[in-house]
Amino acid sequence: MSTVVIATHNAHKFAEIGETLRALIGPGIELTQTDGKEPVEDGGTFEENALIKARAAFRHSGLPSLADDSGICVDALDGAPGIFSSRYSEEGTDAANRTKLLTALKGATKRSATFVCAVAFVTKDGERVVRAEWPGTVRAAAKGSGGFGYDPIFAPKGFTGTAAEMTSLEKASFSHRARALGLIAPAINRYHQSKN
Ligand code: IMP
Repeated sequence: MSTVVIATHNAHKFAEIGETLRALIGPGIELTQTDGKEPVEDGGTFEENALIKARAAFRHSGLPSLADDSGICVDALDGAPGIFSSRYSEEGTDAANRTKLLTALKGATKRSATFVCAVAFVTKDGERVVRAEWPGTVRAAAKGSGGFGYDPIFAPKGFTGTAAEMTSLEKASFSHRARALGLIAPAINRYHQSKN
């Protein structure tokens, strides 16, 4: 059995990453959540911040480490909140962040937005980072109780409800995070095979 450390302190993300990754990687790979300190995320892009988190977990554990950095980019707000999605409102809670975004878009007709996710995988052999997107629109009001963050106000393209109305399996199959994990999974499997 080998281990991949998931470098997140967000329980929702850890659950989503596990649900998606377990279907994509070999049975001999165990996923554990980092117990290291959260590093300062001072990168200027999703990719840089994902690398900062994966490198910190790798330095702490010495084990192959994976991190995601994600957020919502709203076209009418020139891509905001983007990499600042978790800290968009002063309080920084999911509910306050959603309220601030709904207020910023009050009455707006252009409501297109994209969830972005970068995933970094860091091992002693090297680093890899990938990025994926999930397009949709911001609804005028929250709906649904699943997921986290901006899910209740995000309506993915091609889906009738919000991301918070999807089953966890649907979100684990279609989201920006699922897409990015699909791109990184071969690197995890290759690393695992090379060590066994
Ligand atoms: P991070 O932990 O710095 O990557 O911050 C990500 C933030 O973006 C979260 O706190 C959420 O506000 C938002 N976010 C990222 N992915 C999702 C998602 O799948 N659903 C809803 N909100 C998300």
